[in-house]
Amino acid sequence: MIDFEIPEEDRALLDSIDRMMAREFPPEALREADERHETPWRLLPFMGRLGLFAIPFPEEWGGLGKDWRTVALVNERLAYHAGIAATLFGTTVGFGGMSLLKYGTDEQKRDLLPRLIRGEVRFALALTESQAGTDAGAIIASARRTGSGWVINGRKTWISNADAADYLVVACRTEPGSKGAKGVSMFLVDRGTPGISMTQLAKVGHNCMPSWDIGFDEVEVSGKALMGVAGEGFKHTMSTLHYSRAGQAANAIGQAQKAVDLVVAYAKERMQFGKPIGSFQAIQHKIADMQLRVNLARLALRELSWLIATERPCRLEAAQAKLAATETFQFVTRNGMQIMASAGYSMESDMQRMWRDAGLYTFGEGSSELQRNLIARELGL
Ligand SMILES: Cc1cc2nc3c(=O)[nH]c(=O)nc-3n(C[C@H](O)[C@H](O)[C@H](O)COP(=O)(O)OP(=O)(O)OC[C@H]3O[C@@H](n4cnc5c(N)ncnc54)[C@H](O)[C@@H]3O)c2cc1C
Repeated sequence: MIDFEIPEEDRALLDSIDRMMAREFPPEALREADERHETPWRLLPFMGRLGLFAIPFPEEWGGLGKDWRTVALVNERLAYHAGIAATLFGTTVGFGGMSLLKYGTDEQKRDLLPRLIRGEVRFALALTESQAGTDAGAIIASARRTGSGWVINGRKTWISNADAADYLVVACRTEPGSKGAKGVSMFLVDRGTPGISMTQLAKVGHNCMPSWDIGFDEVEVSGKALMGVAGEGFKHTMSTLHYSRAGQAANAIGQAQKAVDLVVAYAKERMQFGKPIGSFQAIQHKIADMQLRVNLARLALRELSWLIATERPCRLEAAQAKLAATETFQFVTRNGMQIMASAGYSMESDMQRMWRDAGLYTFGEGSSELQRNLIARELGL
Protein backbone atom coordinates (compact mmCIF):
# COMPACT_ATOMS: atom_id res chain seq x y z
CA MET A 1 0.00 0.00 0.00
CA ILE A 2 1.30 3.47 -0.84
CA ASP A 3 2.22 5.34 2.33
CA PHE A 4 2.92 9.06 2.06
CA GLU A 5 4.09 9.44 5.66
CA ILE A 6 7.59 10.93 5.73
CA PRO A 7 9.71 8.95 8.22
CA GLU A 8 11.15 10.88 11.17
CA GLU A 9 14.68 10.21 9.91
CA ASP A 10 13.89 11.81 6.54
CA ARG A 11 12.26 14.82 8.23
CA ALA A 12 15.46 15.37 10.21
CA LEU A 13 17.48 15.11 6.97
CA LEU A 14 15.25 17.73 5.28
CA ASP A 15 15.77 20.06 8.27
CA SER A 16 19.53 19.62 7.91
CA ILE A 17 19.23 20.55 4.23
CA ASP A 18 17.36 23.74 5.21
CA ARG A 19 20.16 24.67 7.60
CA MET A 20 22.92 23.79 5.14
CA MET A 21 21.33 25.81 2.32
CA ALA A 22 20.61 28.82 4.57
CA ARG A 23 24.25 28.81 5.66
CA GLU A 24 26.05 27.93 2.41
CA PHE A 25 23.79 29.17 -0.37
CA PRO A 26 21.17 31.64 0.86
CA PRO A 27 18.87 33.43 -1.64
CA GLU A 28 21.35 36.35 -2.02
CA ALA A 29 24.12 33.91 -3.01
CA LEU A 30 21.83 32.28 -5.57
CA ARG A 31 20.93 35.66 -7.08
CA GLU A 32 24.60 36.59 -7.27
CA ALA A 33 25.61 33.25 -8.83
CA ASP A 34 22.83 33.64 -11.43
CA GLU A 35 24.00 37.15 -12.25
CA ARG A 36 27.63 36.06 -12.56
CA HIS A 37 26.82 32.81 -14.38
CA GLU A 38 28.66 30.81 -11.71
CA THR A 39 28.07 27.18 -10.77
CA PRO A 40 28.03 26.58 -6.99
CA TRP A 41 30.19 23.44 -7.19
CA ARG A 42 31.31 24.19 -3.63
CA LEU A 43 27.95 22.77 -2.44
CA LEU A 44 28.96 19.24 -3.44
CA PRO A 45 31.20 18.47 -0.42
CA PHE A 46 28.57 19.90 1.95
CA MET A 47 25.96 17.62 0.39
CA GLY A 48 28.48 14.79 0.70
CA ARG A 49 28.98 15.50 4.42
CA LEU A 50 25.22 15.40 4.99
CA GLY A 51 25.21 11.97 3.35
CA LEU A 52 22.91 13.04 0.50
CA PHE A 53 24.88 11.30 -2.25
CA ALA A 54 25.01 8.08 -0.23
CA ILE A 55 21.22 7.70 -0.02
CA PRO A 56 20.38 5.24 -2.82
CA PHE A 57 23.59 3.23 -2.97
CA PRO A 58 24.08 -0.19 -1.35
CA GLU A 59 26.14 -0.32 1.82
CA GLU A 60 28.81 -2.45 0.09
CA TRP A 61 29.68 0.63 -2.01
CA GLY A 62 29.63 3.02 0.96
CA GLY A 63 25.98 3.99 0.53
CA LEU A 64 23.10 4.21 3.01
CA GLY A 65 20.92 1.69 1.18
CA LYS A 66 17.84 3.92 1.37
CA ASP A 67 15.34 4.13 -1.44
CA TRP A 68 14.15 6.53 -4.09
CA ARG A 69 11.45 8.08 -1.88
CA THR A 70 14.19 9.74 0.16
CA VAL A 71 16.09 10.80 -2.97
CA ALA A 72 12.95 12.51 -4.33
CA LEU A 73 12.27 14.31 -1.03
CA VAL A 74 15.85 15.56 -0.86
CA ASN A 75 15.78 16.65 -4.51
CA GLU A 76 12.55 18.59 -3.99
CA ARG A 77 13.84 20.28 -0.83
CA LEU A 78 17.12 21.31 -2.46
CA ALA A 79 15.17 22.69 -5.42
CA TYR A 80 12.97 24.70 -3.06
CA HIS A 81 16.12 26.54 -2.01
CA ALA A 82 17.88 26.58 -5.40
CA GLY A 83 17.15 24.71 -8.63
CA ILE A 84 20.88 24.47 -9.35
CA ALA A 85 21.51 22.65 -6.04
CA ALA A 86 18.93 20.02 -7.03
CA THR A 87 20.43 19.83 -10.51
CA LEU A 88 23.93 19.15 -9.14
CA PHE A 89 22.50 16.58 -6.73
CA GLY A 90 20.38 14.92 -9.45
CA THR A 91 23.20 14.77 -11.99
CA THR A 92 25.60 13.27 -9.46
CA VAL A 93 23.19 10.67 -8.10
CA GLY A 94 21.28 9.95 -11.32
CA PHE A 95 23.45 10.32 -14.44
CA GLY A 96 26.61 9.60 -12.52
CA GLY A 97 25.83 7.28 -9.63
CA MET A 98 22.87 5.27 -10.88
CA SER A 99 24.53 4.80 -14.29
CA LEU A 100 27.62 3.45 -12.54
CA LEU A 101 25.57 1.27 -10.22
CA LYS A 102 23.31 -0.14 -12.95
CA TYR A 103 25.83 -0.78 -15.70
CA GLY A 104 29.30 0.33 -14.59
CA THR A 105 32.05 -2.26 -14.16
CA ASP A 106 33.10 -3.26 -10.64
CA GLU A 107 36.36 -1.40 -11.19
CA GLN A 108 34.48 1.81 -12.16
CA LYS A 109 32.25 1.43 -9.09
CA ARG A 110 35.21 0.80 -6.77
CA ASP A 111 37.06 3.79 -8.15
CA LEU A 112 34.22 6.30 -8.38
CA LEU A 113 31.30 5.52 -6.05
CA PRO A 114 33.11 6.29 -2.76
CA ARG A 115 34.40 9.60 -4.18
CA LEU A 116 30.99 10.40 -5.64
CA ILE A 117 29.39 9.78 -2.25
CA ARG A 118 31.82 12.22 -0.65
CA GLY A 119 30.86 14.86 -3.24
CA GLU A 120 34.24 14.82 -4.94
CA VAL A 121 33.26 13.89 -8.50
CA ARG A 122 31.52 16.00 -11.12
CA PHE A 123 29.64 14.42 -14.00
CA ALA A 124 28.10 15.62 -17.27
CA LEU A 125 25.96 13.56 -19.64
CA ALA A 126 26.85 13.98 -23.33
CA LEU A 127 24.04 12.53 -25.39
CA THR A 128 22.52 15.30 -27.55
CA GLU A 129 23.88 16.13 -31.02
CA SER A 130 22.66 18.81 -33.40
CA GLN A 131 20.59 16.28 -35.42
CA ALA A 132 19.77 14.12 -32.37
CA GLY A 133 17.65 15.94 -29.80
CA THR A 134 14.32 14.32 -28.88
CA ASP A 135 15.29 11.61 -31.37
CA ALA A 136 18.30 10.51 -29.32
CA GLY A 137 18.70 7.41 -31.48
CA ALA A 138 19.92 9.62 -34.35
CA ILE A 139 23.38 10.10 -32.82
CA ILE A 140 26.37 9.74 -35.13
CA ALA A 141 29.34 10.44 -32.81
CA SER A 142 31.37 7.26 -33.04
CA ALA A 143 33.89 5.20 -31.12
CA ARG A 144 36.07 2.72 -33.00
CA ARG A 145 37.93 -0.11 -31.37
CA THR A 146 41.72 -0.11 -31.29
CA GLY A 147 44.04 -2.78 -29.87
CA SER A 148 43.76 -1.52 -26.30
CA GLY A 149 40.72 0.75 -26.23
CA TRP A 150 38.59 3.11 -28.29
CA VAL A 151 38.93 6.31 -30.32
CA ILE A 152 36.02 8.77 -30.16
CA ASN A 153 35.10 11.23 -32.92
CA GLY A 154 32.11 13.55 -33.33
CA ARG A 155 30.26 16.43 -31.72
CA LYS A 156 27.87 16.79 -28.81
CA THR A 157 25.85 19.89 -28.06
CA TRP A 158 24.04 21.59 -25.17
CA ILE A 159 25.97 19.57 -22.61
CA SER A 160 25.44 21.04 -19.14
CA ASN A 161 28.43 21.73 -16.88
CA ALA A 162 30.74 19.89 -19.28
CA ASP A 163 33.72 22.20 -18.92
CA ALA A 164 33.99 21.79 -15.15
CA ALA A 165 33.08 18.10 -15.11
CA ASP A 166 35.64 15.45 -14.14
CA TYR A 167 33.90 12.86 -16.29
CA LEU A 168 31.70 13.00 -19.37
CA VAL A 169 29.30 10.09 -19.84
CA VAL A 170 29.32 9.97 -23.65
CA ALA A 171 26.98 8.04 -25.97
CA CYS A 172 28.73 6.85 -29.14
CA ARG A 173 27.86 4.64 -32.07
CA THR A 174 30.19 1.64 -31.89
CA GLU A 175 28.68 -0.48 -34.67
CA PRO A 176 29.29 1.29 -37.99
CA GLY A 177 26.14 1.38 -40.13
CA SER A 178 23.82 0.68 -37.17
CA LYS A 179 20.76 2.86 -36.80
CA GLY A 180 18.52 4.06 -33.95
CA ALA A 181 18.88 2.45 -30.55
CA LYS A 182 21.09 -0.40 -31.82
CA GLY A 183 24.89 -0.31 -31.79
CA VAL A 184 25.32 2.54 -29.28
CA SER A 185 27.73 2.33 -26.31
CA MET A 186 28.31 4.51 -23.26
CA PHE A 187 31.77 5.71 -22.27
CA LEU A 188 33.09 7.31 -19.13
CA VAL A 189 35.55 9.84 -20.49
CA ASP A 190 37.99 11.86 -18.42
CA ARG A 191 37.32 15.53 -19.24
CA GLY A 192 41.06 16.20 -19.57
CA THR A 193 41.62 13.65 -22.35
CA PRO A 194 43.48 15.20 -25.33
CA GLY A 195 41.30 15.91 -28.39
CA ILE A 196 38.29 17.29 -26.45
CA SER A 197 37.40 20.92 -27.23
CA MET A 198 34.51 23.01 -25.88
CA THR A 199 32.67 26.18 -26.87
CA GLN A 200 30.16 27.80 -24.51
CA LEU A 201 26.60 28.45 -25.72
CA ALA A 202 24.62 31.59 -24.83
CA LYS A 203 21.07 31.01 -23.57
CA VAL A 204 17.96 32.42 -21.87
CA GLY A 205 18.16 30.85 -18.41
CA HIS A 206 19.92 28.33 -16.17
CA ASN A 207 22.81 30.75 -15.82
CA CYS A 208 24.35 28.65 -13.04
CA MET A 209 24.52 25.65 -15.38
CA PRO A 210 26.70 26.56 -18.38
CA SER A 211 25.99 24.75 -21.65
CA TRP A 212 28.72 23.53 -23.99
CA ASP A 213 29.20 22.37 -27.53
CA ILE A 214 31.86 19.63 -27.46
CA GLY A 215 34.16 18.37 -30.19
CA PHE A 216 35.82 14.93 -29.95
CA ASP A 217 38.75 14.70 -32.35
CA GLU A 218 40.51 11.32 -32.26
CA VAL A 219 39.97 11.10 -28.49
CA GLU A 220 41.73 7.95 -27.25
CA VAL A 221 40.26 6.19 -24.22
CA SER A 222 41.21 2.87 -22.66
CA GLY A 223 39.03 -0.25 -22.74
CA LYS A 224 38.13 0.51 -19.11
CA ALA A 225 36.16 3.59 -20.21
CA LEU A 226 33.38 1.44 -21.69
CA MET A 227 30.32 1.37 -19.41
CA GLY A 228 28.36 -1.86 -19.52
CA VAL A 229 28.12 -3.95 -22.68
CA ALA A 230 29.27 -2.60 -26.07
CA GLY A 231 26.29 -1.92 -28.31
CA GLU A 232 23.81 -1.98 -25.41
CA GLY A 233 24.26 1.68 -24.42
CA PHE A 234 20.71 2.68 -25.23
CA LYS A 235 19.25 -0.17 -23.26
CA HIS A 236 21.50 0.85 -20.36
CA THR A 237 20.40 4.50 -20.57
CA MET A 238 16.73 3.50 -20.77
CA SER A 239 17.22 1.44 -17.58
CA THR A 240 18.01 4.66 -15.67
CA LEU A 241 15.51 7.01 -17.34
CA HIS A 242 12.91 6.73 -14.56
CA TYR A 243 15.52 8.02 -12.10
CA SER A 244 16.22 11.12 -14.16
CA ARG A 245 12.50 11.70 -14.84
CA ALA A 246 11.79 11.49 -11.11
CA GLY A 247 14.70 13.89 -10.55
CA GLN A 248 13.39 16.41 -13.07
CA ALA A 249 9.93 16.17 -11.53
CA ALA A 250 11.22 16.72 -7.99
CA ASN A 251 13.37 19.64 -9.11
CA ALA A 252 10.42 21.28 -10.90
CA ILE A 253 8.05 20.71 -7.95
CA GLY A 254 10.47 22.17 -5.39
CA GLN A 255 10.91 25.33 -7.44
CA ALA A 256 7.20 25.53 -8.28
CA GLN A 257 6.32 25.42 -4.56
CA LYS A 258 8.84 28.19 -3.93
CA ALA A 259 7.14 30.28 -6.65
CA VAL A 260 3.72 29.76 -5.02
CA ASP A 261 5.06 30.72 -1.58
CA LEU A 262 6.68 33.86 -2.98
CA VAL A 263 3.47 34.91 -4.67
CA VAL A 264 1.32 34.27 -1.59
CA ALA A 265 3.63 36.50 0.48
CA TYR A 266 3.61 39.17 -2.23
CA ALA A 267 -0.19 39.10 -2.64
CA LYS A 268 -0.62 39.68 1.10
CA GLU A 269 1.66 42.72 1.08
CA ARG A 270 1.08 44.49 -2.24
CA MET A 271 -1.66 47.11 -1.86
CA GLN A 272 -3.77 48.42 -4.76
CA PHE A 273 -7.13 50.22 -4.52
CA GLY A 274 -6.54 50.35 -0.76
CA LYS A 275 -6.46 46.56 -0.36
CA PRO A 276 -3.90 43.76 -0.58
CA ILE A 277 -4.10 42.30 -4.12
CA GLY A 278 -4.55 38.87 -2.46
CA SER A 279 -8.03 39.98 -1.41
CA PHE A 280 -9.15 40.13 -5.07
CA GLN A 281 -10.85 36.92 -6.13
CA ALA A 282 -9.17 37.00 -9.54
CA ILE A 283 -5.77 36.75 -7.80
CA GLN A 284 -6.97 34.21 -5.20
CA HIS A 285 -8.23 31.85 -7.91
CA LYS A 286 -4.97 32.05 -9.82
CA ILE A 287 -3.01 31.21 -6.67
CA ALA A 288 -5.43 28.41 -5.75
CA ASP A 289 -4.89 26.85 -9.20
CA MET A 290 -1.13 27.19 -8.79
CA GLN A 291 -1.08 25.34 -5.46
CA LEU A 292 -3.55 22.75 -6.76
CA ARG A 293 -1.29 21.90 -9.69
CA VAL A 294 1.79 21.68 -7.47
CA ASN A 295 -0.02 19.32 -5.09
CA LEU A 296 -1.24 17.10 -7.95
CA ALA A 297 2.23 16.94 -9.50
CA ARG A 298 3.69 16.08 -6.08
CA LEU A 299 1.21 13.21 -5.72
CA ALA A 300 2.25 11.90 -9.14
CA LEU A 301 5.89 12.06 -8.01
CA ARG A 302 5.16 10.33 -4.68
CA GLU A 303 3.48 7.49 -6.58
CA LEU A 304 6.45 7.25 -8.97
CA SER A 305 8.96 7.24 -6.09
CA TRP A 306 7.04 4.46 -4.40
CA LEU A 307 6.98 2.40 -7.61
CA ILE A 308 10.73 2.89 -8.06
CA ALA A 309 11.41 2.04 -4.41
CA THR A 310 9.35 -1.16 -4.64
CA GLU A 311 10.85 -2.04 -8.04
CA ARG A 312 7.54 -2.04 -9.88
CA PRO A 313 7.11 -1.09 -13.57
CA CYS A 314 6.69 2.69 -13.89
CA ARG A 315 7.04 3.78 -17.51
CA LEU A 316 3.66 5.56 -17.59
CA GLU A 317 4.05 7.01 -14.10
CA ALA A 318 7.56 8.33 -14.85
CA ALA A 319 6.30 10.10 -17.97
CA GLN A 320 3.25 11.35 -16.08
CA ALA A 321 5.21 12.76 -13.13
CA LYS A 322 7.78 14.47 -15.35
CA LEU A 323 5.05 15.94 -17.56
CA ALA A 324 2.82 17.11 -14.70
CA ALA A 325 5.68 18.64 -12.70
CA THR A 326 7.47 20.45 -15.51
CA GLU A 327 4.28 21.89 -17.03
CA THR A 328 3.20 22.93 -13.52
CA PHE A 329 6.49 24.74 -13.00
CA GLN A 330 5.86 26.75 -16.18
CA PHE A 331 2.22 27.37 -15.21
CA VAL A 332 3.05 28.69 -11.75
CA THR A 333 5.92 30.91 -12.86
CA ARG A 334 3.85 32.33 -15.75
CA ASN A 335 1.04 33.15 -13.31
CA GLY A 336 3.57 34.33 -10.73
CA MET A 337 4.93 36.84 -13.25
CA GLN A 338 1.38 38.08 -13.96
CA ILE A 339 0.54 38.50 -10.28
CA MET A 340 3.83 40.18 -9.39
CA ALA A 341 3.70 42.30 -12.57
CA SER A 342 6.56 44.87 -12.60
CA ALA A 343 7.99 43.50 -9.33
CA GLY A 344 8.34 40.10 -11.00
CA TYR A 345 9.72 41.55 -14.24
CA SER A 346 12.55 43.26 -12.36
CA MET A 347 15.88 41.46 -12.64
CA GLU A 348 16.01 41.64 -8.83
CA SER A 349 13.07 39.25 -8.47
CA ASP A 350 13.44 35.51 -7.94
CA MET A 351 10.30 34.93 -9.99
CA GLN A 352 11.87 36.07 -13.26
CA ARG A 353 14.80 33.68 -12.75
CA MET A 354 12.48 30.73 -12.13
CA TRP A 355 10.27 31.78 -15.07
CA ARG A 356 13.32 31.80 -17.39
CA ASP A 357 14.62 28.53 -15.97
CA ALA A 358 11.23 26.78 -16.20
CA GLY A 359 11.42 26.94 -20.01
CA LEU A 360 13.95 24.10 -20.20
CA TYR A 361 12.12 21.47 -18.16
CA THR A 362 9.36 20.76 -20.68
CA PHE A 363 11.76 19.82 -23.49
CA GLY A 364 14.98 18.67 -21.73
CA GLU A 365 15.40 14.98 -20.93
CA GLY A 366 12.36 13.97 -22.95
CA SER A 367 9.97 16.70 -24.08
CA SER A 368 6.33 17.03 -23.02
CA GLU A 369 5.34 15.78 -26.48
CA LEU A 370 7.50 12.68 -25.99
CA GLN A 371 6.02 12.04 -22.53
CA ARG A 372 2.51 12.26 -24.01
CA ASN A 373 3.56 9.85 -26.78
CA LEU A 374 4.84 7.44 -24.09
CA ILE A 375 1.64 7.67 -22.06
CA ALA A 376 -0.46 7.09 -25.18
CA ARG A 377 1.69 4.07 -26.06
CA GLU A 378 1.23 2.65 -22.56
CA LEU A 379 -2.52 3.02 -23.14
CA GLY A 380 -2.16 0.85 -26.22
CA LEU A 381 -2.48 3.65 -28.80
C1 LIG B 1 19.92 24.45 -21.14
C2 LIG B 1 20.01 23.08 -21.74
C3 LIG B 1 20.68 22.07 -21.08
C4 LIG B 1 20.82 20.80 -21.67
N1 LIG B 1 21.59 19.84 -21.06
C5 LIG B 1 21.87 18.68 -21.71
C6 LIG B 1 22.82 17.74 -21.18
O1 LIG B 1 23.39 17.96 -20.12
N2 LIG B 1 23.09 16.61 -21.91
C7 LIG B 1 22.49 16.35 -23.10
O2 LIG B 1 22.80 15.31 -23.69
N3 LIG B 1 21.59 17.22 -23.64
C8 LIG B 1 21.27 18.38 -22.98
N4 LIG B 1 20.37 19.28 -23.52
C9 LIG B 1 19.72 18.98 -24.78
C10 LIG B 1 18.24 18.63 -24.58
O3 LIG B 1 18.15 17.35 -24.02
C11 LIG B 1 17.55 18.76 -25.95
O4 LIG B 1 17.39 20.13 -26.21
C12 LIG B 1 16.23 18.03 -25.98
O5 LIG B 1 16.43 16.64 -26.06
C13 LIG B 1 15.35 18.47 -27.17
O6 LIG B 1 16.06 18.39 -28.36
P1 LIG B 1 16.04 19.61 -29.40
O7 LIG B 1 16.32 20.85 -28.63
O8 LIG B 1 16.95 19.25 -30.51
O9 LIG B 1 14.54 19.69 -29.89
P2 LIG B 1 13.88 18.78 -31.06
O10 LIG B 1 14.16 17.35 -30.83
O11 LIG B 1 14.26 19.36 -32.39
O12 LIG B 1 12.33 19.04 -30.81
C14 LIG B 1 11.65 20.20 -31.28
C15 LIG B 1 10.16 20.04 -30.96
O13 LIG B 1 9.63 18.92 -31.68
C16 LIG B 1 8.97 18.06 -30.78
N5 LIG B 1 9.09 16.66 -31.23
C17 LIG B 1 10.21 16.01 -31.61
N6 LIG B 1 9.92 14.73 -31.92
C18 LIG B 1 8.59 14.56 -31.72
C19 LIG B 1 7.68 13.48 -31.86
N7 LIG B 1 8.07 12.26 -32.23
N8 LIG B 1 6.37 13.70 -31.55
C20 LIG B 1 5.96 14.92 -31.14
N9 LIG B 1 6.76 15.99 -30.99
C21 LIG B 1 8.05 15.81 -31.28
C22 LIG B 1 9.69 18.26 -29.46
O14 LIG B 1 8.87 17.82 -28.38
C23 LIG B 1 9.92 19.75 -29.46
O15 LIG B 1 8.77 20.42 -29.06
C24 LIG B 1 20.20 20.54 -22.93
C25 LIG B 1 19.48 21.56 -23.58
C26 LIG B 1 19.38 22.82 -23.01
C27 LIG B 1 18.67 23.91 -23.76
